[in-house]
Amino acid sequence: MAAMGELTLSSLRDDGERFNEAIAREQHLALAGHKPNAELRPIYERFAHVLGPAALELTRDAFRSASDGSDEWRSARALLDWQVESHASRTLAELDERIIAWEANAVVQLADGRQVSYQRVPVDLATLPNRNERLALDEARATLVDRELAPMRAERLQRERDVIESLDIAPGYIATFEALSGIDLRALAAECEQFLRDTDAMWVDVHGEAVRKQLGILPGEATRADALALLRATRFDPYFPATDMEPAIRRQVGEMGIDPLANGRALFDLAPRPGKRSRAFCAPVRIPHEVYLVLLPHGGATDYRTLLHELGHTLHFAYTRDDLPFEFRWLGDNSITEGYAMLFDHLMHDAGWLQRYSALGMSRVAEYRRAAALEELQFLRRYAAKLLYEVRLYGGGVAWGALPDAYVDLLSTATLFRYRAADAFVDVDPRFYAARYLRAWQLQSALREVLVSRFDEDWYRNPRAGPWIVRELFGEGQRELASEQAERVGAGPLSFAPLVKNIEQGLVA
Ligand SMILES: [Zn+2]
Repeated sequence: MAAMGELTLSSLRDDGERFNEAIAREQHLALAGHKPNAELRPIYERFAHVLGPAALELTRDAFRSASDGSDEWRSARALLDWQVESHASRTLAELDERIIAWEANAVVQLADGRQVSYQRVPVDLATLPNRNERLALDEARATLVDRELAPMRAERLQRERDVIESLDIAPGYIATFEALSGIDLRALAAECEQFLRDTDAMWVDVHGEAVRKQLGILPGEATRADALALLRATRFDPYFPATDMEPAIRRQVGEMGIDPLANGRALFDLAPRPGKRSRAFCAPVRIPHEVYLVLLPHGGATDYRTLLHELGHTLHFAYTRDDLPFEFRWLGDNSITEGYAMLFDHLMHDAGWLQRYSALGMSRVAEYRRAAALEELQFLRRYAAKLLYEVRLYGGGVAWGALPDAYVDLLSTATLFRYRAADAFVDVDPRFYAARYLRAWQLQSALREVLVSRFDEDWYRNPRAGPWIVRELFGEGQRELASEQAERVGAGPLSFAPLVKNIEQGLVA
């Protein structure tokens, strides 16, 4: 029997859960405006043993000794992935704090003497009506980023790669990610290349038309700053009123046979409060017993989509089976929870759903769906190119100094918006989160096909669909990988094919 205080997998699970709950509760209180700041350091100190070297060692041993494919191995993989991420974050904490402080305080200097805070730039780029002003702002931003932020982010990427490789889990950064995530990155990268080829002609058409019509410029002139302005389609916002949002979406969830409040486990926080973040978020504080969906309803299509996305996360966590071990409720493949969030936010592409739960009305649904499909295709092509770039970044085959050119080339070719070399080390998600998103995108479209075949086109209001989703999907937590789940529910192997089909249907709507 283990001596008191000795770390075992079982005590690591118990304390890991208490630690995650404490962090999640503190973050929720701060972000929802219940207290001014999140005090995380005392929690990290109290639970130092949960993320210490002994915990890393313990989970690495468990992963190495478990037999491939067993439940033990699945558990150990999730626990080790968590430990590796925590270990890297702890090692890089000081650098991260410097980056966060820089982002909070940096000021972009414009040639005409005006100053814009760095945090505000994306909002201004999307809303400034004058294109020359947008381009000047982006130019000034890029100069500042190139000089100050890019070197810190490049250092972070290099040091994170070195830290992960030194753990000796698999040969190299990419192989380590593959071993811990279960995602075959090279295969996914090949799928991305194919997806980009398959949708090339379609994108050239819709991009050219949108850029000409809505921005009044030639397709070859468009930059990433123009993309922000183009995709901020506010013309439909009056048809997505703030007051209707939550009641309409709750009604829909009820119609599909799911209690949106999960018998009190899901808590909707819609009240205005000083200090509350304006962007909606889901805070799982105790899974599945206490899950918050926090939002300030502003209205507009983007707000509806964000609420649906966060609702997918909320229902997933609130309906996870409570007898699953810690690692399958709290850890595992985030492609799963992102897939559920996207399954819900993609209801905004569904003609029947839009007619029933928004104020668009018959006459505007098709136009809205075309705009939504254009945005979807742009984002997918951007993420596919991002993954291809990040695989090169970590693969070691491209010299560090040549990466900015590779970034500009890959992202500009895929999106047809010109990207800037200054962003090559800034526009990178840690630990291939792009791969989780791409998997989630594929998963939601595969799940949608299963739901349509089982519960018809309007599955989202079929009272038999909800109980199936709760039992077969949400209940399982993140025990499986996205690919395994898709196979189990009869969706076949994940691919971009159903996504391409949906986008085509949206564009010709
Ligand atoms: Zn999400």
